[in-house]
Order: sequence, then C-alpha cells, then structure tokens
Amino acid sequence: MIEIPEKIEIANLPTRIEKLERLSDKLGGPSIYIKRDDQTGTEFSGNKIRKLEFSIKEAIDRKCDTIITFGGVQSNHCRAIAAVSAKLGLKSYLILRENNDIKLDGNLFLDKLFGANIEFINCENYENEKTEAADKIKEKLKSRGHKVYTIPSGASNGIGSFGYYKAMQEIIFQEKELGIHFDKIVIAAGSGGTYSGLLLGSKIFNYRGEIIGISVSDSREKFKNKVCEILSESVNYINIPLSFSKDEIDVLDNYVGEGYGLSSREELKFINEFAKLEGIILDPVYTGKAMYGLSCEIAKGKFSDCKNILFINTGGIFGIFPQKYLFDFSN
Ligand SMILES: *Cc1c(COP(=O)(O)O)cnc(C)c1O
Repeated sequence: MIEIPEKIEIANLPTRIEKLERLSDKLGGPSIYIKRDDQTGTEFSGNKIRKLEFSIKEAIDRKCDTIITFGGVQSNHCRAIAAVSAKLGLKSYLILRENNDIKLDGNLFLDKLFGANIEFINCENYENEKTEAADKIKEKLKSRGHKVYTIPSGASNGIGSFGYYKAMQEIIFQEKELGIHFDKIVIAAGSGGTYSGLLLGSKIFNYRGEIIGISVSDSREKFKNKVCEILSESVNYINIPLSFSKDEIDVLDNYVGEGYGLSSREELKFINEFAKLEGIILDPVYTGKAMYGLSCEIAKGKFSDCKNILFINTGGIFGIFPQKYLFDFSN
C-alpha cells in the first residue's frame, strides 16, 4: 500500500459525474461527461480546495497560524485560501497581481468578505517583487510571534498535487460504479498542480486513459517543465521510486487565445451557448477556454476513436461576474 501525506476534510467529496447529453448529441462525437469539481463547496468551489486539503494540513502540522499566497486579482486559489483560513481561524495574506483598474467584484470581493489581508503589485513588477513582498510580511509577522506557511500560486507544488492524486483514485472508483471507462480525461491547465496530481495517480493506479491538459496561459514546453518540476517534488513525499518524462505529458497550447484571463468573442459566445445547452456555468479564465478547446477538437474529428471523454469542471464560477459586461446578448 502506498503511503501519501495526510489531509484535512473540507471539500464536498466525491463530486458527481454527469453526462453532457445535449452537448454530446450536438457534436456527434464521443459521449462527453463532466465531473462537477465546481461543486466541491460553495465558498471553496473549484479544484483548489482539493490541493489545499493537503497544503493546509501541512501548515497546521507545522504549527503555522498564518498563510501567505499569490495569484491574479481574480484568483480562485486565493479566494479558496481566504475562505478556508476564515473557517480554521488562520490569518491569510494574499499578494495579488493587479491590473489597471481594480474592481471589487467576483473573487476579490469574496477575499475581502472572508477578511483576507491583501497587497497589490502591478503586473509589470509582479514576478520580480512578489517574493520580496512576501518576505517583508513574513518578517513583520515573525516579530509579532506568528508562524507563516507560504503556498505558491495555485497550490501547485509537491504537496498540493496530492489533491488530484486522490481525485484520480475517486474517478477510477466512479468508473467501476458507473460501468463506464473514460478514454481521455480533459482539464484546463494553468499552474500545473491539477495535471500533476492526475498524472501521478494515473501512474500509480495503472490508469488506462490519457490525461489531456488544455493550456489557458503557457506554452506546451513551459507547462511540461512545470509539471516535471512539481512531480519531482511530489515523489519525495511517497515511499516508492517513480520518475516522469515530458513525453508522458499531453497538453494543447492552441486554445490560450488572447492570453491569460482575456476572453475572445468566440470563447464568450461558447460559454453562453454551453450555459443554454447544459445549464452549467463555465468560467472565462479556465473552463470556458478548455471546454471550447475540447469542443473544437471533437468538431475537427480529433477524438473520433474515443467512446467516452471526462471533462473535469474545475470551477471558477465567481470569475465570470467581473466579465459580465463582455457578453453580448443582443442576438
Ligand atoms: C487554477 C484553476 C485551474 C488550473 O489548475 P492548475 O492546477 O493551476 O493547473 C483550472 N480551473 C480553474 C477554475 C482554476 O481556478
């Protein structure tokens, strides 16, 4: 039996798997299923809470009382940290990448509501200044007797990826329960922790399906490097030797569109069509781009050899509200 780190129990698990009847019919390709990781919780909604169950457990075990983390202004990860910190009586500090006009909307509004401490750094200086900003906060808190635990962007590191290792185990169990085998599992790929965890699980449990990431920001090469880096950290936590090569990582980078957090007309139109077709909300930053990409690939005949595809709805619902004015309902 393989031993993995312990976690706390916060997310609503297991999440349901449902068939997207109307989308599958419309595309006329494989049957598409959706795993509702957007329903891991209301405040914790999305994929980040699965990772945080492991990261926060490590923080608590190390007797830390304060969490520092990083992300974009509309980071789902930061919002999940703010919520979970409130619940557990921890302090949270969010170092957010700001754009020009900061709207108190969506996730940022919730960060405030949950009482997170927020520091903004503008986009140009963010990569250079964020570590220094975190160190400053850490020093200040240390001098006041607090102990800080730092979580990287998206909780995409060795410990965080066990969240999706467990999700892979959950999917394999659900396959048996439902009597369905998924030929492919498709996810939105951002900071890489979700993909890493699924790949780790698929290797350990000898999963027969393939995991495909659809990048929302980085190039294929950059994403592969990130995943290898995360996995080399993860294997340090387990008692079996494992190695991963870049060839095992399958990621499409032709659906990034206009860039991270930027939505094209086609993507927004697709989110609208999908909502009308299935009664499910995709978010503009991650799942909207990824499901749009999957649909385009199916329309191109790319997955014609597949019977069943599982798309994981990794959440992000609150991120749609700051972009509501970009939707065109005129026709
Ligand atoms: C963070 C996020 C992702 C991407 O997950 P990573 O582990 O960062 O690759 C996908 N969907 C949503 C809604 C997210 O918030």
